[in-house]
Amino acid sequence: MLSCRELTDLGDALLAGELHGRRLWSVRLHLLMCRHCRRYITYMRRMLHTLPGMRQRASEVEIERILCGIHQGHGGADHNTDPEH
Ligand SMILES: [Zn+2]
Repeated sequence: MLSCRELTDLGDALLAGELHGRRLWSVRLHLLMCRHCRRYITYMRRMLHTLPGMRQRASEVEIERILCGIHQGHGGADHNTDPEH
């Protein structure tokens, strides 16, 4: 049985279609039982589809860059304080 940490490590390969056989099944089994990881994978998959040029396997650097972008993007480059928003 995979741990959540192992699953997130494998998430990259899973989305790239690089997991096969027993490994793929252990990941699927975990996703069936763990909705946290399911959400994580769904989120990752959405990212891959959303970002242009990300159809290929994302490297660790790229993923980190994306995650950093999320954090920084939340603060916003422009300080739009629209009261009606
Ligand atoms: Zn999990």
